[in-house]
Amino acid sequence: MNNLADNKNGFIECYDIGGTNIRAAFIVEGKIEEPFINEKTEKNNVGSFVQQIKRVSSSLRKAHPEISINNIQAASLAFPGPVEGTRLLGSKPLEFDEEIDFSCLLGDYFNVPLIVGNDLNMASQGELALGQFKEIKNFCLVTISTGIGVGVIMNGSLYNRQTEIGHIVLETNPDLANPCLGHKGCWAAQASGVGIEKTVEKMGRKLTAEEIFEDPEYKEIVDKVKQYNAYGIGNLINAYDPEKIIIMGSLGLKQFNKIIPDPEIIKQYTLLNNIPEIVPTALGESIGLFGAYFSAKNFLEAD
Ligand SMILES: [Zn+2]
Repeated sequence: MNNLADNKNGFIECYDIGGTNIRAAFIVEGKIEEPFINEKTEKNNVGSFVQQIKRVSSSLRKAHPEISINNIQAASLAFPGPVEGTRLLGSKPLEFDEEIDFSCLLGDYFNVPLIVGNDLNMASQGELALGQFKEIKNFCLVTISTGIGVGVIMNGSLYNRQTEIGHIVLETNPDLANPCLGHKGCWAAQASGVGIEKTVEKMGRKLTAEEIFEDPEYKEIVDKVKQYNAYGIGNLINAYDPEKIIIMGSLGLKQFNKIIPDPEIIKQYTLLNNIPEIVPTALGESIGLFGAYFSAKNFLEAD
């Protein structure tokens, strides 16, 4: 075990990169140093994205003159997409179709160990290490935002396969099923932010998910989303028998009461009688940053 990872002065430069925003922060001993940075992601162009990361890093470092560059132990980046080593194998939310090796593009810039990971896998490890349920060894972390994804912790470790439970098909009625990547009617296409926007668009109206949730006219659609979540969560329970289901993602956290179904409803879709407790993550919107931090700590300790 490398005690550098517990070094009081060792900061980890963490990035939570989403389809909408990039958050960046220095984290030390499980605490985010204020201020942190939150800005719109520059998607679709790898070159300008890499420039943005360097710019964000430089702003973050300027905002923390007390942190010397020698005290930065590692840089850790959480991406919405599959990752192998330091390579992102494309990302739908970032609109990158190609494979990108960040050790080539950012290795020299950071000049410290560079950790690249899938955001949900990283967040699951963050939740396990720093969350409110340290005693729970089996849980599902469900993110509900632009898309829907599920991270799985089994027997205290990450189920590190490229499972895509967010794409299980729940709606087969062709009039109701929204298109996704080569299929239709999956959980994400029906119940994510983008999904609900698509459903309303079919009625000839263009509204953001936030507007739809605020407008009582769309209550029926919001209730239907809750129903899709009952199917989705029921399937999760059938597949993994988790002790807890933890919700993250902007939509999941902000609209928790409107879209997370009651246990009695979910029970209709499982064979198990005990429906696990479903709770929002105590790490809130910062779970992505904590995930990047904890994954970097794991990496340094294993070194
Ligand atoms: Zn899908």
